[in-house]
Amino acid sequence: MKAAFIAALLASSALYASDWSSLYGGKLEDQRQRYRKDVDLVIAQEIQPFLTTEQAHAFSKLQIDLPATAAPEPNPFDFYSASEGHITLPLLTVAFVEDMAEAYSWLWANQCSSRTVDEYLGMLRNRPASDFPDQSYPSPLVALHIPKDALENPAVAKMTERVRGTTLSFILLHQFGHQSYRTSSEEAVMKHDKVEADEELADAFALEVMKKNSETPAGLLMLIHGMMYLPSVAPKNHPLTQARLKAMADFLDVKAREFAEGRPDRRLSTIAIRSLAGHIRQAAAFLADTTGQELWAEQGRKTGVADLAPRHLTGER
Ligand SMILES: [Zn+2]
Repeated sequence: MKAAFIAALLASSALYASDWSSLYGGKLEDQRQRYRKDVDLVIAQEIQPFLTTEQAHAFSKLQIDLPATAAPEPNPFDFYSASEGHITLPLLTVAFVEDMAEAYSWLWANQCSSRTVDEYLGMLRNRPASDFPDQSYPSPLVALHIPKDALENPAVAKMTERVRGTTLSFILLHQFGHQSYRTSSEEAVMKHDKVEADEELADAFALEVMKKNSETPAGLLMLIHGMMYLPSVAPKNHPLTQARLKAMADFLDVKAREFAEGRPDRRLSTIAIRSLAGHIRQAAAFLADTTGQELWAEQGRKTGVADLAPRHLTGER
């Protein structure tokens, strides 16, 4: 059942995936310098200071390639290594992560439900680009009705930076983890399977580094939802399985106090980490919930931009 379901997911992904490059309608190159600067800043401020001397040296030797999109089937959460010593982080991914971070943060600051974000991903996943004007999918800020001046609210700007920074850090560190550590065949035998074991190793490496940072990994859930709802195809994908998500949640639960160390309010930070672990467990449950998946897909097929207007959590619009 599970295998059949995943096969169905991949099949439908192949149907629309190539169209996701239409999200920014060929305008990604115009922003290349800004995106490169953002990525460099994340590396300088949120990654390098938390690596050991040896790791920092190895990381500084990596080349971060930013093609506009990844051929042949661009996905807004693509990241991978095209060759040893390289990490590929397409501009499409950087742009999408940045916009999603801003959308989440604006909705959060305005007490609006983040459910519309999941519905937006459902729309991208289950409707073809030809359903939309100019045969192009609407980008997150447009689809989710986020005002143009969203970042003028300091709380939104601060949260956006945190979500964006922690998402990009996790992506880069996970990929660095893949380059640096591989599961040995003996370890793989003891674990479930090698691909899954490699993913768990890369996740644990990324989280271990992020634990030393003073930021709660606020972007992690956004990335997990994104990769779960918009899976990319091999070899660019980092397959999300229940075991992988459970391992991530366990890691956060067991080390919640360590994550909270050095934060202004350790008690609240511990609660935030445990809550994140709980949400990751819910995502793991969703992976096994075929009925829930079918309902979500059905809703996605019916969702249009007008349905994605912000919904106040108290029920007001
Ligand atoms: Zn991976």
